[in-house]
Amino acid sequence: MIEDSIYDTGNAAFRDRMSDTTAEGKRKWFYVSRPNGKFTKWRSYLNFFYFALFFTLPLLRYQGRPFFMINFPKGEFIVFGKIFWPQDFFLFAMGMITMIVFVILFTVIFGRLFCGWVCPQTVFLEGLFRKIEWWIEGSPAQQKKLDQMPWNWEKIRKKGLKHLIFLAISFLIANTFLAYIISTDELVQIIREPVTEHLTLLTGIIAFTLTFYGVFAYVREIVCTTICPYGRLQSVLLDQDSMQVSYDYVRGEPRGKMSRNAENDNGDCIDCKKCVIVCPTGIDIRDGIQMECVGCTACIDACDEVMDKIGRPLGLIRYASEKEIRENKKFKFTSRMKVYSGVLVVLLGIMTYMIASSKSISGNISRVKGQLYQELEGGKLSNLYEAKILNKMNKEYPVELKLIGTEGSIKMVDTHPVLKKQGHTNLTFFVILDENKVVKRSNKITIGIYAGNELMDKVNTTFLGPF
Ligand code: SF4
Ligand code: SF4
Repeated sequence: MIEDSIYDTGNAAFRDRMSDTTAEGKRKWFYVSRPNGKFTKWRSYLNFFYFALFFTLPLLRYQGRPFFMINFPKGEFIVFGKIFWPQDFFLFAMGMITMIVFVILFTVIFGRLFCGWVCPQTVFLEGLFRKIEWWIEGSPAQQKKLDQMPWNWEKIRKKGLKHLIFLAISFLIANTFLAYIISTDELVQIIREPVTEHLTLLTGIIAFTLTFYGVFAYVREIVCTTICPYGRLQSVLLDQDSMQVSYDYVRGEPRGKMSRNAENDNGDCIDCKKCVIVCPTGIDIRDGIQMECVGCTACIDACDEVMDKIGRPLGLIRYASEKEIRENKKFKFTSRMKVYSGVLVVLLGIMTYMIASSKSISGNISRVKGQLYQELEGGKLSNLYEAKILNKMNKEYPVELKLIGTEGSIKMVDTHPVLKKQGHTNLTFFVILDENKVVKRSNKITIGIYAGNELMDKVNTTFLGPF
């Protein structure tokens, strides 16, 4: 856990209440200035990538089915083309544990990087809704003026247009989320059918649209500072080596106006407050590391612009750990970070392997209980087996079982067996081997499950002989 910054800003009052709350306990609305700089540029590129991914992923198809779908009501999940069912609970549990460990380790090393660069709340708010607000209502000063002016044609036009666009985007987001759940095919079908047949769904869409609209138009930073549990966890996950957006108080203090006076021993911070007016959560990063900081890097860009103008080195606000700032060192990838990053890579590898190795058609095969071997004509032996094959695909397949690595044959009890779509199929069959090839009482054999000539799964079992 990180302790209070050892630097005393003299502004202890910032800990008395949340940044977005006034002394009277009312909401303080932030008119946020537009940052400009290299981090803002990188975030804009990333935001564009996220939007493209979010809106196109439900449209992608793989082998005739959605590439990504999380149908909670029906218990059907497709992750990168791989189908998962509630039967894959073990996989989900492992995935969840891996995710939790990943999040903890990631936060210990990189602080709140996720919030500023990946979280949909920040991506949509800062990358889309805030930009539309700047575009329609102008600079923070113009926005404030607009809010304070009485209702007139200009205010109705600007506010009306902004909220209409906000509602339209929220509606699009709600529909995209629904497409992730029920797939775009079903969504399109529902849209074509009379509304009266889908009143529950329509109510859900309206509820989600209004929720997204409320979050992005009004609730905004409160999601990050008060509602989100991950944000609340920061204070226990971060330590003095965690990388985060930090103000270099060693270099910056004492803050004050720039002067050519040789006796002026002010630090590099000229107290212009540019870093404060760009902050979407309204905090002053110079007060030290705070829970409300979402690591968006807007203050880094704002301060770098100032440093550039006054001819001081960039990075007065930068990614750094508390320890680096205190000891005035450059950022170093410590051994602990290397070890944790190694663990993160391994965990990601496990997750990827688990997803990649999950099978759409898989089976269990065992000898029928209480049955030994049977002797057949021509010096052959047979064992009776039963197979339970799970087909997660939304399609029937002709199925064939073949011995792999052992000479012999398989005789099905059913002729032309078919795997039922999205269900289990039970099969009974004989494995027949030459007696002279059976050298032990219990012999390992491998049976391949083929659907339409494609090997879908291999199952190991045993063949009983007379020895
Ligand atoms: S302090 Fe800086 S990094 Fe943190 S939320 Fe504010 S602007 Fe973003
Ligand atoms: S932008 Fe930089 S110089 Fe200006 S107040 Fe913030 S830290 Fe100080």
